[in-house]
Amino acid sequence: MIKTTLFMENFYILDDERVRQFLITGEDKALLIDTGFEDSHVYEAVRQITNLPVEVIMTHGDMDHTGGLSDFGACRLHRADWHLVKDKTIRLEPLSEGDAFQCGGYCLRTIEIPGHTLGSTAFFDEDKGLLLSGDSVQKPGPIYMFGDWRSLDLYIESQKKLLELKDRVKTILPCHHEYPIGPEYIEYNLKDAEALKNGELTGERHPYLPCSSFKGLWTEFYYDKSNTPLQTAEHPAGSRKERL
Ligand SMILES: [Zn+2]
Repeated sequence: MIKTTLFMENFYILDDERVRQFLITGEDKALLIDTGFEDSHVYEAVRQITNLPVEVIMTHGDMDHTGGLSDFGACRLHRADWHLVKDKTIRLEPLSEGDAFQCGGYCLRTIEIPGHTLGSTAFFDEDKGLLLSGDSVQKPGPIYMFGDWRSLDLYIESQKKLLELKDRVKTILPCHHEYPIGPEYIEYNLKDAEALKNGELTGERHPYLPCSSFKGLWTEFYYDKSNTPLQTAEHPAGSRKERL
């Protein structure tokens, strides 16, 4: 059951307590960021708010974000995550660094932040200091960093890239766990990820997932040290870096 909250003017948060989506309503269209699990029924929640045409943009391609896509038919998603979308009838359109989406007084600019997935993106509204961080900045996590198509090295690079925005970010809205969180969590997540990479965190085997839980000072990662991300044309450097 999705709970809908009007968080700011024309900006709704849709939350089923597992994963969160964001809906911005404009004059002639609405902009939806992510579509939840298939059984989140995000489409019905959106239609309770607006009957406007909906443009869908995606933070990344994991199934807890793309599960509702079939109800919308099309989305913008970074090419490096296209293979993660199970429903092949969905019209996928590319999403790249700098792509901007205007709706309802908001202007969301796309920032590529590969790591959690190779096609992860954040969306940043500069005027409002609002960062939609997908799964890549979280309090307290866990942030999933195990399995194919993930890269801890790229994640660290992407947190450093987001850190450059820190002084302009006022509010971060992640797709999981606590929200809103402050810009300091970019640096906190980075520090914990670096500690994980440097072997400073102790892992505890997860009871059923193929990974261990590594708790940092602020954030937790689900990670598997033997993880080697598969290579994609969009991020050939990802796998190369990881293997060094
Ligand atoms: Zn997620």
